[in-house]
Amino acid sequence: MSTFNIDDYIRKVPDFPKKGILFYDITSILANPQAFQFCIDRMMALYHDKSIDAVAAIEARGFLFAAPFAAGMKIPLIPIRKKGKLPGVTLSKKYDLEYAQAEIEVHREDIPAGKRILLLDDLIATGGTLNAARALIEAGGAHVPEIFGIVGLPFLNYEKVLAPTPITTLIQYHGE
Ligand code: AMP
Repeated sequence: MSTFNIDDYIRKVPDFPKKGILFYDITSILANPQAFQFCIDRMMALYHDKSIDAVAAIEARGFLFAAPFAAGMKIPLIPIRKKGKLPGVTLSKKYDLEYAQAEIEVHREDIPAGKRILLLDDLIATGGTLNAARALIEAGGAHVPEIFGIVGLPFLNYEKVLAPTPITTLIQYHGE
């Protein structure tokens, strides 16, 4: 397990979705059962003894890693979705993108007040999305003790945006 190199299974696509962006594609992890299992095993090893009560994940690629993790850990999965997708009573949060605003939502009754919720996404870039997601969970009365991503791009300074919450990623890329 320790010799497994997850970098081999992340497809790098230059100029996607627009010129100048190097896109780190995790669908190539999903297409390889060994690589996918490696990620889930690492996540379980990282968090099995950390008193995590639930995992909250960001639409849509975050769900793909959160679902087997939640099932393996036997903890609830709380989906955080783009505005307008959740049918129940929601909490919502607007946040800034480079040239626009986005809004995410969570079912209010899914957030267990006072509990410890791991926040998860496939990739952490600027940290803006996870920052908004953390605010949602906290508005629901729960606590986010840790943030996890498969891939981290620390040169985009997400550590500053997400401080003081500890962040763990399986692989980091340090420039494009
Ligand atoms: P951010 O809010 O800037 O941290 O952006 C996080 C979201 O955008 C994640 O859900 C990623 O899937 C996606 N994303 C941002 N930049 C990239 C990139 N270079 N490669 C792949 N996905 C990205």
